Amino acid sequence: MSTVTRFAPSPTGELHLGHAYSALVAAAIAKRAGGRFLLRIEDIDTGRCREPFIAGIETDLAWLGLDWERPVRRQSQHLDDYAAALARLQAMELLYPCFCTRGDIAHEIERAGGAPQGPDGPRYPGLCRSLAPEIRAERLAAGAPFALRLDMDKAIAMTGSLAWHDRIAGSVQADPGRWGDVVLARKDTPASYHLAVTVDDALQGVTVVTRGADLFAATHIHRLLQALLDLPVPEWCHHRLLTDETGRRLAKRDRATSLRTLRGAGRTADEIRALLGF
Ligand code: GLU
Repeated sequence: MSTVTRFAPSPTGELHLGHAYSALVAAAIAKRAGGRFLLRIEDIDTGRCREPFIAGIETDLAWLGLDWERPVRRQSQHLDDYAAALARLQAMELLYPCFCTRGDIAHEIERAGGAPQGPDGPRYPGLCRSLAPEIRAERLAAGAPFALRLDMDKAIAMTGSLAWHDRIAGSVQADPGRWGDVVLARKDTPASYHLAVTVDDALQGVTVVTRGADLFAATHIHRLLQALLDLPVPEWCHHRLLTDETGRRLAKRDRATSLRTLRGAGRTADEIRALLGF
């Protein structure tokens, strides 16, 4: 099977050195194996994504000397694919509508005296999972906004135990339960990151999902979704994150390491590649 890797930025800001490193790692894996390197624009969060950043991403990557396959997949143009995956999970009775606001959730956690911590904060306390069917129907009929959550215990019971392989961490036992009932479709966007990324990597035939170690924990969910949706299982490569001189992770808000700024200051692509070990 030929190797397919991808770089999948969200156009919510300028690319910085950390993104450059991620794209270079993914492209190098593909190149070494004589495989293919893809670029995917993860722009379903229309509230945060901006068109000019998309053009900027392509300019930066081309400047770095990278080449990727066209056409570039943009998530906002493929909402049907995510809706189909949701419909499938819905038919398996694994989803439920969640009407909670952040305030409702915080209030319930306080009332209950806390909630177990998941990788992304306290786990959802399950309020809407146990909603009486007539109340749920009433709220849906009234047009109340809702997210769709995965009934995690039910999903895990269906798939049994799962594992995955990471090129750096080795063999990993999947532990999606730590996340609790994750959101797969948000009130304001028709798919969550977890759903869209899993569907896309499968549809695009990605064989090595290459991304930063900050997304390592998310892979537990992605592995579960693959099992539920009968999708092929790739390998993962969660690479190290770049930090600044104080040890803090680089972020889009730090202008100093943005590729556009560095270019404007006269740094060459060769210098940046060398700095990053390429
Ligand atoms: N779009 C995500 C981000 O920019 C990365 C998704 C992934 O590589 O799986 O953080």
